Amino acid sequence: MKPLNEVIAACPPSGIRRFFDIAAEMDDVISLGVGEPDFVTPWRIREAGIYALEHGYTTYTSNAGLPRLRELICADLAERYDARYSPATECLITTGVSEGLDLALRVLLNPGDEVIIPEPCYVAYEPCVAFAGGVPVRVPTSWEDGFAISAEVVAAAITPRTKAVLIGSPANPTGAVQPREALEALVRLAQEHDLYLISDEIYDRLTYTGAHTCLGALPGARERTVLLGGFSKAQAMTGWRVGWICAPEAVAELCVRVHQYTMLCAPHISQLAAVEALSAAEDDVTEMVADYDRRRRVFVKGLREIGLECPEPGGAFYAFPSIRSSGLDSETFAERLLKEQSVAVVPGSVFGPSGEGHIRCSYATALPLLEEALERMGRFLRSL
Ligand code: PLP
Repeated sequence: MKPLNEVIAACPPSGIRRFFDIAAEMDDVISLGVGEPDFVTPWRIREAGIYALEHGYTTYTSNAGLPRLRELICADLAERYDARYSPATECLITTGVSEGLDLALRVLLNPGDEVIIPEPCYVAYEPCVAFAGGVPVRVPTSWEDGFAISAEVVAAAITPRTKAVLIGSPANPTGAVQPREALEALVRLAQEHDLYLISDEIYDRLTYTGAHTCLGALPGARERTVLLGGFSKAQAMTGWRVGWICAPEAVAELCVRVHQYTMLCAPHISQLAAVEALSAAEDDVTEMVADYDRRRRVFVKGLREIGLECPEPGGAFYAFPSIRSSGLDSETFAERLLKEQSVAVVPGSVFGPSGEGHIRCSYATALPLLEEALERMGRFLRSL
């Protein structure tokens, strides 16, 4: 048989999945592994989905997505961040941020173009760059600096082939929220070297210690930024598969071009549910965010009490404690913790080399389970 696509064949499966597979074989596992809300989608949003089904909204929509949803997304960005996008020409609805990321990369990259990715980062970034024909170039961040992106470190990685910088804030896996000054420095650098910025802001509503900075609203950023957002996290809508891209018209137009041939449109029912999410479910979001914040405080305090240093996670729903004091590497730590105490976490190394020495724990888990997980983790550490 002729060989399959060599870029895809060379890409290893996600390191997170391996732990799910082990955990699935075991009883009584407390999983802090998944990056998914433990809430079901708020009832009013589900009801909008049911209404859409009952009334037969089962067709395609326009390729770019329902105009009403695009209007709501742009109005929301304008209201919360003063980021201004035209719903008609600069916004499209995608099948989650996952598709948005893929579209952005395919539209921006020519074969061999380099994309700088500060890590530790979301596991899909590097593979998606490679699948789009680009070359991912990692740059480190460190917990000593709160995982802030350093413009100098990014600058040192720039070559004549650099096309874009891909960032996520608030971040998976660190929970770090990029300080405004770090983003401003990055924008200046992008202007100097004529780079695009891809900004994954899927966790934008999930911030606890300070305001989120929307990259599309920073002076000088808008014309070179592709902004990605969605409904999976804050609105607990992972399974509905709906997200969006806001970008300058030339980029948005080409994103629609790819989307119209590969996806046609995002699911109609999900788009109608997303309309409800943006027009009437803000109180539900606020309640969930407050709940995550309560869990965050309890969990981070608990980690520190059992002897794990943990930088304050300002956003998303992940804690990224250091496990260096255990003397184990993150892979061994996670594997032994799972086998010996039935707690599933993700080794930091799967998110990039700077993640080594850490584990990612999702606190989108009920408080009693978080407390039990802390007990077990404490027992594990004492046994070492
Ligand atoms: N971006 C980040 C940083 C994520 O953590 C995730 C999911 O875990 C996604 C994107 C995927 O989002 P979606 O469900 O909208 O495809």
